[in-house]
Amino acid sequence: MHQPVTPETVVPADETPVARCPYCERPFRSQRAHDLHVGEDHADRCTDAEAEAYDAAWDDETDELFGFHMKVFVAIGVLHTVIVLAYMVVFGGGVA
Ligand SMILES: [Zn+2]
Repeated sequence: MHQPVTPETVVPADETPVARCPYCERPFRSQRAHDLHVGEDHADRCTDAEAEAYDAAWDDETDELFGFHMKVFVAIGVLHTVIVLAYMVVFGGGVA
């Protein structure tokens, strides 16, 4: 089960939080982080609109993570190919 964590937060004087949790007053730099927090830490008492915002934020986050994983996958594939080709050029030379 998800255990809510409430870190100590300090908002710099020249900065205004984009959103603030209506249940625990925690400040957030992005609306998405706020929506994810409310849906996870206050799931038992959040409104339907907040639950919908949480689902949307979760979908966004999942899509973004998938895109990141694909980029890492491709980068590792390219790096592997380059290393294998470089190895063949340097140490290749045939049997004869
Ligand atoms: Zn909160």
